Amino acid sequence: AQTCKALQYRKHGDPSQVVQVEDVDLPPIGAKDVLVKMLAAPINPSDINMIQGTYAFLPDLPAVGGNEGVGQVLEVGSQVKSLKTGDWVIPRDAGLGTWRTAAVLAEDDVISLPNDIPMLSAATLGVNPCTAFRMLSDFEDLKQGDSVIQNAANSGVGQAVIQIAAARGINTINVVRDRPDFSQLSNRLKAIGASHVIKEETLRRPEIKELFKTCPKPKLALNGVGGKSATELLRHLQVGGSMVTYGGMAKQPVTVPVSALIFKDVNVRGFWVTQWKRDHSHDDRAFRAMLDELCSLIRQGKLTAPACTEVGLQQYHKALDTAMQPFTSAKQILIM
Ligand code: NDP
Repeated sequence: AQTCKALQYRKHGDPSQVVQVEDVDLPPIGAKDVLVKMLAAPINPSDINMIQGTYAFLPDLPAVGGNEGVGQVLEVGSQVKSLKTGDWVIPRDAGLGTWRTAAVLAEDDVISLPNDIPMLSAATLGVNPCTAFRMLSDFEDLKQGDSVIQNAANSGVGQAVIQIAAARGINTINVVRDRPDFSQLSNRLKAIGASHVIKEETLRRPEIKELFKTCPKPKLALNGVGGKSATELLRHLQVGGSMVTYGGMAKQPVTVPVSALIFKDVNVRGFWVTQWKRDHSHDDRAFRAMLDELCSLIRQGKLTAPACTEVGLQQYHKALDTAMQPFTSAKQILIM
């Protein structure tokens, strides 16, 4: 049998302790399967949580790490219709185990992407930009000139929100944690289209009122953090606006001020891109249309891959360690 290298874990725990590079056998390629050579795969927070055993759904063990990434089709089974050799593919759903040099996958488990976009964009397209796209589209009817406020604005999701919003003429108020190189980070986010970049602390100060003299109050708040940070976002929403929680990096519950409910009637919602993909799996068109629109933004230079560091598969220890550090401001991408 053919084998590949894979980053595998046999028990849950600290990723840098439990993940190991192993030789894994590849099954024979069935009639409806494709052999894929993986090219690049990011380390996302949910990958870490899955290995730690704290995520909402967990794979059977042993499991290969990673839930997204781009691969190239090397061989197709006799009944494969939608894919051909050379195509780039990304997973349709979470749980595939992408941190590996090759995989035999069912045709239906992947969706093709055009290969005229940068590899790092392709490797990171299926989760963060899709999450940003849906949250900007499905909760509030945002028009040019409207504004959106978000925390974790320098995250992969946050950077995609900034860019997709900017392409639609929507203002973004971007909240990040303070750090020694705050002005450098602020400049970087403004360079990709952020209207305003502010520190968590500033959001609690009276001078924030100045900002809302030049920019309408947000209709939509995007919360990837939870805790106090989420409460502060809620305070600035327009009457009847929505806060969508998609992540909980602070590992603290969301507290909704009574006044926000009574006097502003805010909507408190949640979003999980994996569920959206499952809800749309019977019919490709919505997923395909979103990917097409995102690829078009990429080609126009309006959507770039998140700030990232490329790391060889063998350097996975370093990559996992770095991915778990605060203030890194760069996604670790494993290059196979
Ligand atoms: P990245 O790895 O790109 O960025 C992580 C972000 O979290 C950075 O902005 C970082 O800020 C911030 N952060 C880390 N620790 C803390 C903390 N203790 N308190 C506040 N902020 C913190 O992340 P992604 O964009 O890939 O994912 C962000 C979140 O969104 C995760 O929780 C992830 O699970 C979730 N997510 C959810 C999806 C869904 O469908 N619901 C889809 C995609 C992601 P700093 O630079 O200050 O450290």
